[in-house]
Amino acid sequence: MTESCDVAIIGAGPIGLFSAFTCGMMGAKSIYIIDALPHIGGQCQALYPEKPIYDIPAYPFIEAKDLVQNLYQQAQVFKPIYALNQPITCLKPANSEWIIETTAAHYQAKAIILATGSGQICPNPLPLPEAKAYEGQGLLYSVSEKNALLNQNIIIVGGGDSALDWALLLCKQSKVALVHRRNQFRAHPNTLDKIYAAIALGDITLLEPYQLHRLIGPAPHLKMVELQSLKDGGLIQISADRVLAFFGLSSQSTHFSDFGIDQDKQGQIIVNPATCSTNLNGIFAIGDCATYSGKLKLIVSGFSEAASASHAIYPLLYPGKPRKIGYSTTQGIPNPSL
Ligand SMILES: Cc1cc2nc3c(=O)[nH]c(=O)nc-3n(C[C@H](O)[C@H](O)[C@H](O)COP(=O)(O)OP(=O)(O)OC[C@H]3O[C@@H](n4cnc5c(N)ncnc54)[C@H](O)[C@@H]3O)c2cc1C
Repeated sequence: MTESCDVAIIGAGPIGLFSAFTCGMMGAKSIYIIDALPHIGGQCQALYPEKPIYDIPAYPFIEAKDLVQNLYQQAQVFKPIYALNQPITCLKPANSEWIIETTAAHYQAKAIILATGSGQICPNPLPLPEAKAYEGQGLLYSVSEKNALLNQNIIIVGGGDSALDWALLLCKQSKVALVHRRNQFRAHPNTLDKIYAAIALGDITLLEPYQLHRLIGPAPHLKMVELQSLKDGGLIQISADRVLAFFGLSSQSTHFSDFGIDQDKQGQIIVNPATCSTNLNGIFAIGDCATYSGKLKLIVSGFSEAASASHAIYPLLYPGKPRKIGYSTTQGIPNPSL
């Protein structure tokens, strides 16, 4: 069965969520938001839910997960339908509309907004044969709830900003050992100052140059980890409740060019910045996945693109009907059921 709607938004990251609101303000009555991940929030939720963001207008700072929650609530007034856990597999025209095929369903929409960011986000896995068996419990690639890691032995592996930021946050509530292959980190200078201070105070134990050699314990629960020295090959074992591994992320981008959409050499979707329209009538792209001259990959830019795209979508929803441009303060919120 094919579900019909006015607008299908692909990507439930911050920009996709906000575009559900802006499309609702433009009179879209039925909106689907489709995402490959099992949760909304895109990078904000998957990669840095508890980090404060400082450059969202009107918020001196806001944690990424709270921004997602606020965007979700703001969109709820138009009751978008969420279709999660559904990577898209095909986009094809159907008369003057579009069919979106996912791994689970088919949708038909008058307009499509692509808000797919840098693609489907996956952490690079720990390269140990037993790693899979510990994932989600003893072995984590991200932290969605830091209180779940209270008063534990935490081993953080990696030398970049994510590893160091989490070491600094978690050492206030747990015993943290930082394991790194090299004797230099690749992180922001401010973070480095804080890390060296925490190590000097004994709040963080630094183990370098070491690499993780073995996870020990009844999987998925961890008891110990075995580390190997990269100086002399010697092995040591230390108690561990959790390993947090930060080996970078890979994103699997969709080849929109397979569906006839113009992309640049980096795989970004080329749009007209005035409308965020792609080369295909009725398909728009906003947020990190879209590019044009002078593009800034910032959440605030994506919000503005969501507004531009939804204004450009209006004539597809209401052909021939003049669009009144007004302020939300004077027009209020359109009633989606009228
Ligand atoms: C550590 C970190 C800190 C950051 N800090 C800031 C900051 O302080 N300020 C700022 O402005 N920006 C910041 N950013 C950048 C910001 O997170 C991005 O600009 C923003 O997330 C882009 O939002 P988006 O909705 O376009 O894409 P995303 O957040 O990437 O969401 C895209 C969604 O599309 C889904 N998707 C992709 N392909 C498919 C497919 N084929 N089928 C179905 N679903 C698909 C993905 O699963 C994902 O949920 C930061 C980024 C990182 C990594």
